[in-house]
Amino acid sequence: MSVVKRTSKNVLLDTALENFYGAAEEMGLEDGLVEILSRPERAICVSLPIAMDDGSIRVFEGYRVQHSTALGPAKGGFRYHPDVNLEECEALGSLMTWKCSLSGIPYGGGKGGIACDPLELSMSEKERLTRTFAARVAPIVGEWEDVPAPDVNTGAQEMVWFMDTISKMRGKFEPGVVTGKPISIWGSKGRTAATGLGVSACIKELLVAQNIPVKGARIIIQGFGNVGSYAAKFMSEAGAKIVGISDVTGGYHAPDGIDVKRAFDHVTNHPKKMLEGFSQPGLKQLSGEEILEVEADVLAPCALEGAVNAKNAGKIKAKYIVEGANGPVTPEADEILSSMGIVIVPDFLANSGGVIGSYFEWVQNLGGYFWTEDEYNNRLMPIMTDNFHRVWNYSKTHGVKMRRAAFLVAIKRVADAVKIRGTFL
Ligand code: NAD
Repeated sequence: MSVVKRTSKNVLLDTALENFYGAAEEMGLEDGLVEILSRPERAICVSLPIAMDDGSIRVFEGYRVQHSTALGPAKGGFRYHPDVNLEECEALGSLMTWKCSLSGIPYGGGKGGIACDPLELSMSEKERLTRTFAARVAPIVGEWEDVPAPDVNTGAQEMVWFMDTISKMRGKFEPGVVTGKPISIWGSKGRTAATGLGVSACIKELLVAQNIPVKGARIIIQGFGNVGSYAAKFMSEAGAKIVGISDVTGGYHAPDGIDVKRAFDHVTNHPKKMLEGFSQPGLKQLSGEEILEVEADVLAPCALEGAVNAKNAGKIKAKYIVEGANGPVTPEADEILSSMGIVIVPDFLANSGGVIGSYFEWVQNLGGYFWTEDEYNNRLMPIMTDNFHRVWNYSKTHGVKMRRAAFLVAIKRVADAVKIRGTFL
């Protein structure tokens, strides 16, 4: 490869570029395609003047990056966080391109956000901020251009404000301009559980591929929020034994299996939606760190990035790791785990049920026709299963780790689309 590689002082962007160049080199991607795919197609910065509740004016900074639209409209969330910046959006946007490509859905990748501390904002300030952001990025978003979604500190309410603003500006209802809307306003039945369902599909396929019966397989799930709790629920319904769960309040270990329904109900009824105070016969309370080191077939980290790192990787006793969270295994830990023979199903495969679910919402919005929850789940499962096997088989055939295999499969699909569409002039 004779391209001059881009680097960045932003760690996230630098890592994304490094991963891309490494995979591009391995697959022998042509220089022109490397140049194209190492840059976003479009990146905009917007200033957002907001009338605060006390009568003052504050100007916030917002961003929207479209990394690629080769396969379809850009897809990816927008987040509210003090650290949001253009380079972070660029990095996360490129990861969305690879994730959508790997998922086999007709989307490119994008990401956006506003540098702000949402905890300091009232509801009405947040509403004005979201509506101003929607107005500022309106020229580049749309059902067939760029379809945002929730991300860190944004959810169903922000999506509705965004969609409502775009619809009013355009003088027509445009529900498919964002996904992640509530069911009452063109959201989808099934979306809440979709990511956890997808994680459970990957765990099941992995077990079957390794000749381990799903029934009785021992699973540890770190994080009992949206992703972790549903992954635990579906695995337990499939007959697996959830030997450990955890959240910010610590680890809960039951060698004979956690009663997942009971844990689910406990969290639902807890004022802060936590496992704190959860009990059942034979339950041992461990620390959040200790639960990761319990013996099991599969460990599914479904909480935060960096949960398995250089410090604790050597103590992991599970045979397989399925990454429900984004980036839960650091690159150093990845090396250590590989040397221990632990196979890792990478995040952008394992947690892609969420974005596939977003695609389902968009499809239903475009058609104005809604599916039942069963229809939604019955369409999600075969896609997840196929995607798992595509990466698994590539990894076996080419003798590479699943993470690298996933990148290679994903980049190839986008590169092929760029190539066949050609450059403009
Ligand atoms: P969530 O906020 O609903 O749940 C997070 C859970 O992790 C909570 O139970 C929290 O208590 C727990 N947690 C936090 N710190 C912990 C620690 N140190 N030890 C153990 N548990 C801890 O979040 P979520 O939506 O379930 O997302 C989890 C991860 O999955 C994130 O990395 C997110 O980016 C990723 N993800 C989520 C979706 C989705 O659809 N929700 C889709 C793709 C990826």
